Amino acid sequence: MKYQSNIDFAKKLDSTDPLKSYRDLFYIPKINARECRYFCGNSLGLQPKSVSDYIKQDLEDWKNYGVEGHFKAQTPWFSYHEFVTEKTAKLVGALPHEVVVMNTLSVNLHLMMTTFYRPTKKRFKIIIEGGAFPSDIYAVQSQAKLHGFKIKEAIVELWPRKGEEILRTEDIEKEIKKHGKELALVMLGGVNYYTGQAFDMQSITKAAHKVGAYAGFDLAHATGNLHMHLNDWSVDFAVWCGYKYLNSGPGGVSGVYINEKHATNTKLPRMAGWWGNDPTTRFKMESKFVAKPTAEGWQLSNAQILPLAAYRASLEIIDKAGITHMRKKSILLTGYLEFLLNQLILEKGLDLFKIITPKIPDDRGCQLSLQFKKDGKKLFDFLTKKNILADWREPDVIRVAPVPLYNSFEDVFVLYETIKSYYK
Ligand SMILES: *Cc1c(COP(=O)(O)O)cnc(C)c1O
Repeated sequence: MKYQSNIDFAKKLDSTDPLKSYRDLFYIPKINARECRYFCGNSLGLQPKSVSDYIKQDLEDWKNYGVEGHFKAQTPWFSYHEFVTEKTAKLVGALPHEVVVMNTLSVNLHLMMTTFYRPTKKRFKIIIEGGAFPSDIYAVQSQAKLHGFKIKEAIVELWPRKGEEILRTEDIEKEIKKHGKELALVMLGGVNYYTGQAFDMQSITKAAHKVGAYAGFDLAHATGNLHMHLNDWSVDFAVWCGYKYLNSGPGGVSGVYINEKHATNTKLPRMAGWWGNDPTTRFKMESKFVAKPTAEGWQLSNAQILPLAAYRASLEIIDKAGITHMRKKSILLTGYLEFLLNQLILEKGLDLFKIITPKIPDDRGCQLSLQFKKDGKKLFDFLTKKNILADWREPDVIRVAPVPLYNSFEDVFVLYETIKSYYK
């Protein structure tokens, strides 16, 4: 598409956008009583208007049935989590029995590593991207320490080449090969939260398997953003949160994917809880754990109904829109933002900032990260004053994420104009 930097063009794109009606399904936050332009869906997705009805229903059922709500609630609590499985699986390209929605992200990351990081004296290393999200770094470090390894010997961080911002797939593959028989696990983000780089999960998984290691991904910034095929790619496990691109509310439930060859293996060691037990014998309350032969075999507790209610509301919307359509619009929308920002760089001088997110649409999701030489924070504060919510990351980056479900081409254009006005 040949883009143009004028508001009429932006409005024209909006008028032909097949997803344009979805914006009305969300509450747009206000700054100074005026609707803002929201670019933080990568941090906290907006609230679907339908969420309160879903939660209200479960509050009513609780009020009216008490404990009997486990079976009598409109969506019975006993199997509540099962009602989100199929649509969640579809979203990430998994089979239903490979997916479970439970707990929160960092918890699930530890649960997965308990199963998939079983180091030996010879094979004990974990590869992670340098500058990964702190929770992920803490998780892999503490796992290594739990098994008696020093962080320095067990954790291998990947950094871009000198003068480059993003990791090259060939370099990741080379590093995997280099650690070979010593490598236990490759644990990367699907999309790096800082740079916005999307990793080639299929090639990375292949390279990990070639040396006998597992490949797991933190998809916090990928789920609901990229169109993924976890099962086809033979990814071993993945985890993600429900409150970024999945709009399920602060602290919302997390998703887990476990490849079927592992999910059906009830002998795999794990942290066990009663909800992971085969439901047909769960209430016999016996002392021997019998794992459910699916991803649900990793559940610990009975499901968090109220957070799941919010998740269900949002998942319905996402499923209806369809990740294929979301991604299609996303490529166009982020492409437009990139075009406008590059225009600005040309008009105002190359030195203001640079976009560190990859230029190729396949190598990124919707987010663009702008790195500033100076005064990035000042511009960020200016944007907030002008009713634009973006995200500031120390030391020098503004992240903006136009989300296909509720952001418009006009939003993107207004962002461009506002940045432009700052540099006048
Ligand atoms: C958002 C995010 C988290 C947050 O973890 P919680 O357990 O949900 O608080 C962790 N890792 C990554 C990569 C994230 O993007």
